[in-house]
Amino acid sequence: MTELAYLPDLPSAYVQQFRARLTALPPGAVVLDRTYFYPTGGGQPADRGTLRTASGDEVEVVDVTKSGSAVLHRVRGPPAVLRSLAPGIELEGRLDWERRFRHMRLHTAQHLASARIFARTGLRTRRATLAGISATMDLEGRLSPDAITAVADDVRASVQRPRDVTIRAVPRAEWDAHPSAGRSGLVPLPSHVDPVRVVEIEAEDICPCGGTHVRSTGEIGEVQWLPLVPLPDGASRVAFTLVGASPSTRT
Ligand SMILES: [Zn+2]
Repeated sequence: MTELAYLPDLPSAYVQQFRARLTALPPGAVVLDRTYFYPTGGGQPADRGTLRTASGDEVEVVDVTKSGSAVLHRVRGPPAVLRSLAPGIELEGRLDWERRFRHMRLHTAQHLASARIFARTGLRTRRATLAGISATMDLEGRLSPDAITAVADDVRASVQRPRDVTIRAVPRAEWDAHPSAGRSGLVPLPSHVDPVRVVEIEAEDICPCGGTHVRSTGEIGEVQWLPLVPLPDGASRVAFTLVGASPSTRT
């Protein structure tokens, strides 16, 4: 089992370097007792980075996936270094922070955008995926170009007058009784999830999510909206990209 160390609170998502113990070596991969590497899931791509041994040798983490309660870090490196890895040794993990922070900005912007689209049009988000510098959202119905302009203005306002982002654990029964349960998203919450990890953007959005997010909407920076794409079943696809660096990385 791997402890998902990035999960419990928002500051944990900012840890870029950590120590952990190697617990298992499935083919091509390394399992640690704890990790800050995000495994692919919920539309957010996996982290990349490196694992370093006590003697300073390094292997590259090329993919991270969940397998039951374990996290598999797929690694690549010199054969001699790979052969030196053994259960019980301590490794130092380093995240590719540029990539991860981009995902945190995109993911938070997506929550904000889904909430504003729902507030303005009643349309919920069926699916959201992040890739590179872009976030793509499939909505349950047709969105007008005017609505997307208004949503873009809303998102810009929340970046310019930053809102705090927080994480808390809410008992499942309490979440199910919450008036905003499942509000702007359509992805169902699996029945075994308890407590629910709730990501809240102050005064804007409350959403169950297992991803990584920035601590303030000010860190999202500028986004540029791409043309709306009508989907064959009457739905719409909206997407935006990050423009430039975050105005405030505070790292
Ligand atoms: Zn999220």
